[in-house]
Amino acid sequence: MKVLKFGGSSVASSENINKVISIVKDSANKNKVAVVVSALGGVTDLLLEAGNLACSGNKDYIKTFEIIEEKHVQVVRELIPINNQSNVLGEIKKMLNKLENTLEGVFLINELSNKTSDKIVSFGELFSSFIIANAMQTNNLDAVLKNSQELIVTNNNFSNAAVLFPKTNANIEDFFKQNNSKIVMLPGFVAKTENGEVSTLGRGGSDYTSAIIAAATNASVLEIWTDVSGMYTANPKFVREAFPIPNISYQEAMELSHFGAKVLYPPTIQPILKKEIPICIKNTFEPDAEGTLITKESSNNNPIKGISHIENMALITLEGSGMIGIPGISKRLFEALSLEKINVSLITQASSEHSICFAISNNDALKAKTAIDTEFSYEIEHAKIEPVIVEENNAIIALVGDNMKSHQGISGKMFSTLGRNNVNIRAIAQGASEKNISAVILHKDIKKALNTLHSEFFENQTKQLNLFVVGVGNVGGKLLEQIKQQQAFLLKNLRLQVRVIALTNSKKMVFNEDGIDLENWKVALEKGTALNMDLFHQKVTDLNHRNSIFVDNTANENISKLYASYLKESVAVVTCNKIACSSNYTNYLNLKQLAREYNAPFLFETNVGAGLPIIDTLKNLIASGDKVNKIQAVLSGSLNFVFNNFNEENSFYNVVEQAGIQGYTEPDPRIDLSGVDVMRKILILARESGTRLELYDIENDSFLPKASLAVDTVPEFIETLKLEAEHFNKIYKKAAANNCRLKFVAEFDNGKAKVGLKEIPSNHPFYNLDGSDNIVLFFTDRYPVQPLIIKGAGAGADVTASGLFADIIRIGNN
Ligand code: ADP
Ligand code: ASP
Ligand code: MG
Repeated sequence: MKVLKFGGSSVASSENINKVISIVKDSANKNKVAVVVSALGGVTDLLLEAGNLACSGNKDYIKTFEIIEEKHVQVVRELIPINNQSNVLGEIKKMLNKLENTLEGVFLINELSNKTSDKIVSFGELFSSFIIANAMQTNNLDAVLKNSQELIVTNNNFSNAAVLFPKTNANIEDFFKQNNSKIVMLPGFVAKTENGEVSTLGRGGSDYTSAIIAAATNASVLEIWTDVSGMYTANPKFVREAFPIPNISYQEAMELSHFGAKVLYPPTIQPILKKEIPICIKNTFEPDAEGTLITKESSNNNPIKGISHIENMALITLEGSGMIGIPGISKRLFEALSLEKINVSLITQASSEHSICFAISNNDALKAKTAIDTEFSYEIEHAKIEPVIVEENNAIIALVGDNMKSHQGISGKMFSTLGRNNVNIRAIAQGASEKNISAVILHKDIKKALNTLHSEFFENQTKQLNLFVVGVGNVGGKLLEQIKQQQAFLLKNLRLQVRVIALTNSKKMVFNEDGIDLENWKVALEKGTALNMDLFHQKVTDLNHRNSIFVDNTANENISKLYASYLKESVAVVTCNKIACSSNYTNYLNLKQLAREYNAPFLFETNVGAGLPIIDTLKNLIASGDKVNKIQAVLSGSLNFVFNNFNEENSFYNVVEQAGIQGYTEPDPRIDLSGVDVMRKILILARESGTRLELYDIENDSFLPKASLAVDTVPEFIETLKLEAEHFNKIYKKAAANNCRLKFVAEFDNGKAKVGLKEIPSNHPFYNLDGSDNIVLFFTDRYPVQPLIIKGAGAGADVTASGLFADIIRIGNN
C-alpha cells in the first residue's frame, strides 16, 4: 500500500482537488492507497481566527465563520453533481452547525482552552476529507472515508498532542486488515484522547498523520504532495535560485524541517525511521517533477544539503558571576522552561560558564523570562545572577548536511560569508555530530543571509550586484546603456549578474526588485513615484540586498551628503560626483573609514580624468608599497579645449563661447576657468596619495584678470573676457615667443599642491595634448625619473559612464 498526503494548497479549490483526484486515481490503478488530506488551504487559520475573535467577545467571528461556510459550500457546488449535492451539503451544514455552536459557546463564556480550540480547528480536516471522499465516489473511484480520530489516540496535550503508539498502531492495523476498498480517505491532523476528546497533532500535523499510517501499515512509500517540487536547498519563497534536492537522508530532512523547512512537519520522520519507508515529496501542480526522495542514506555527495531558517525567535541570556563552577544551574534553567512547556531551539554556553544563551519562540519569551527570574530569584536578589535578558526579533539560520563533519572549513566559510555581507551573528551552535551549524541573526537579515549562503554553497558562484542609480542625465543614461549592452557578457564571463533595482531623475523614482528592464527604463521611471530621497534610503535599507551599490551620477551636493548613510547600511557607493571627496578632509576620511568598517566599497574613479584609471593606479602603487613624491597633471578637459583653440585669429572670448556651446565647459564657465575644478581634482589625488590637505591649502595662480574675477553674473563675466582681450593675447604671445603652448597644470609636490597656467615647451609630455585629453605623471620611489604616465580622453559622458561601470565591476570582482 502507498500513503499519499495532500496539503492545504493542494486542496484549496475545486480545481486543485480535481488535480488531486487524478493523481490518486493513477496511483490506485496500481496499488491500494491511503489518502490523507489537510483542511482546504487557509481554513485552519480562519478557524483559529474565528475562535480567537469569539473568545475576545468580538462578533466579527460570525463573519469569519461565514467565510469558512462559503468556501466549503462553493467547493461542494463545483465538485459534486447536482443529484448528490444536497446530500453532501446537508452533511456539511450539520457539521457547520456544530462548529457555529461551539464558536457561540466560546463567545458567550469568553474562554478558549486548547481543548476547545482543537475541537474548532478539527473541523477543517473533517470538512475537507468528507468533501473529497464524496468527490472521489462521484468519479466512480472505490473510495471510503475513515475518520482518523477513530484510529489515532493521543495524550491530553491539546493542540500539540503526543501519539500513544501501541493503541494507535493496533487500531490502524485492524482497520486496514478489514478494509477492502482501493482508496481510504482520512483527515490529517485530527485525533482523539483516550477519553474520546478531540485533539490535534500540532500545526502542519497532517504530514505526521500520514507518516503514522504509513508506518503502521508498512506502506511501500509515503508521498507528501504539496505546492513545491520537493525539499529545496532553501525556502524557495525567499531564495529564487533554490532548487529541489533530489535525494536526502532521514536525518538531514529532519534537521532541515526542525530548522524551519516547513515543507515537512518535523515529527513526520520519526514513525517512518525504523521501518525505512521512503518518503517522496511531490508537487501537486507539477506531478511530473522528480521531487525529493528521503531515504536512510542519500547518494548526494554535497556535504551541505540545505539551508533553513526559523523566524520569530527570541534570544535569552542568563549570566552572572554566581554561575561559574556551580553545578546544577543549567538543570534548574531548563527544568523551569520544561515545566512551562517551552521548546528550546538552540543553546550555547561559553566554557567560562559565565553565561548561557538560548533561543526560543518569540511567543514564549515573556513566559520564559518570568519562569527563569522566579527560579533564580534568590541569586538575582543577591546579585549573583543578572535578571534574564530577552532580545526578540531574531531568527535562526542553519546549514544542514550529514557529511559536514568530514569537510573542514564549512563553518568558517559560513560565518565569513555572513560577516562580509554585514549580517550580524548573535549566537552560534554546532553539535559535535556536525549535521547542523546554526546561527542566530536579526530577523531583518534573513533574506540576505539565506541568499548569500545559498550563493556561496549552492550556486555556480554567480554574484548578483544590485544597483540603486541616482541621476539619469547624460552620464546616467550612458551608464544604463552600457549596462544593458554588457549584462549577458558579464553573466557569462565574469559570473556577475548586474541588476538595476532603482532609478531616479530629479522628479521621480522607481523600484523593481526583479531588476528594471533596461530596454524600457524611461517608461518605468515615468510611471514611478515622486522623488523622495528619505524614502529611497528607507527602501534600499528595507530591501537589504547583498551587494547593493548606490550609484550617484549627479553633481548634486545634497546627494553627496547621503553617502555616509548608505555606507553605514553596508551599501557600497560609486560616484562621479566630486563634491564629497573634495569637501573637508574629515568628511572625506570619515567616508573612507565607514567604507572599511562596514565592508562597503566607496569608489570614485571618475572624480579625476573621467574613465581613465588614475585613482585605481594610484591606489595600487600605494598598496604595493610605493610612495608618491610628485604629481604633475593636466586635468581639465575644458581648459585644454580652450587653450588648444585660442590663438591670434581666434580670440579668448570666442573660444570660451564656443566651448560653452559645444558643451566642453560647465554652464557657468567660471567653475572651469577659475581653476576650482582642477583644484578639486588635484586635492583628491593628493589625499589619495596619503596627504592631509584642504581645498584652501591649494595655491591657485589664476590667469584671469582682476576685472573678470570681480563681476557677479555669467554674462558680465563673458563680457569682461571681451574687454580684457589684450590681457589674454599677451599671455598667448609670450608663450608663442618662447615656442611654448599654454596648459593649465596641476602639481602636487612635497606635500603641497598648486594649479595654474604654464608655458609648456615642445619636449614636455604635456605639449602634444589634444582636444579634451587629460594626462597625469606620477613620480614615485619606483618611478623617480621616468614617471608613470596615464593619458587619454578625460571628459565626456561616454567615458565617465564607463569609469563608473568599471567601479561597479571592481566591486563585483572583489
Ligand atoms: P502543505 O500545505 O502542502 O503542507 P506547507 O505550506 O506546509 O505545505 O509546506 C510547503 C511550503 O514550505 C512551501 O510552499 C515553502 O514555502 C515552504 N518551505 C520552507 N522551506 C522549504 C524548503 N527548504 N523546501 C521546500 N519548501 C520549503
Ligand atoms: N491544517 C493543519 C494546519 O494548517 C494541518 C496541516 O495542514 O498539516 O496546520
Ligand atoms: Mg505542511
